[in-house]
Amino acid sequence: MAFALPPLPFDKAALEPVLSAESFDYHHGKHHKAYIDKVNGWIEEKGLAGKSLVEVIRLARDRGDEPLLDNAGQIWNHDFFWQCLAPEGSTRPSGKLARLIGASFGDQSTLIEKLTAEAAGHFGSGWAWLVLAGDALLVTSLHDGDTPLDLEGAKPLLTLDLWEHAYYIDYRNARPEFAEAVLGKVINWDFVSRNLEDDVFAKGDQIQRAA
Ligand code: MN
Repeated sequence: MAFALPPLPFDKAALEPVLSAESFDYHHGKHHKAYIDKVNGWIEEKGLAGKSLVEVIRLARDRGDEPLLDNAGQIWNHDFFWQCLAPEGSTRPSGKLARLIGASFGDQSTLIEKLTAEAAGHFGSGWAWLVLAGDALLVTSLHDGDTPLDLEGAKPLLTLDLWEHAYYIDYRNARPEFAEAVLGKVINWDFVSRNLEDDVFAKGDQIQRAA
């Protein structure tokens, strides 16, 4: 039994020039895969057989097992992140999501400015998040491999990877330019919208399969 690297939900060249095919070869094919390989290597030793990814994250948190929590959290965050992306111009906020963006930020460009500022200002590795808390949308960020399972009562809608490995191939050190381009051009707003209603923690979850 093992966790698997899920395929990208788009062709690896479909987000060019914002994110290159080469960047996905590394980010998805090597970085994301490395977290999965690490957790798979612990399945017997740490008694993880048959558990879903979210169950592994909760168990790691209960045990205070930081290496397991970091690696399993990174699997979940990346699974969710790929689903947040779509080819340029293919979706836009509508319906309830558009109304919430208007009520919480005024307009979409202000939301993107705030998320970009959060991404640029976050010290070190982590993830920027747009979450639903009560009736309001909020921008926040989490460190390293922490997941929104740590945000009690808030529902994650959208994330942006802030690890240097997410932008170094296409943007070198320029995290703000990476954030502005991804958030402004290649977000899957249909996915963000569905997250208002869906069980978000079942997304990016994984069941182990027989190898
Ligand atoms: Mn990453």
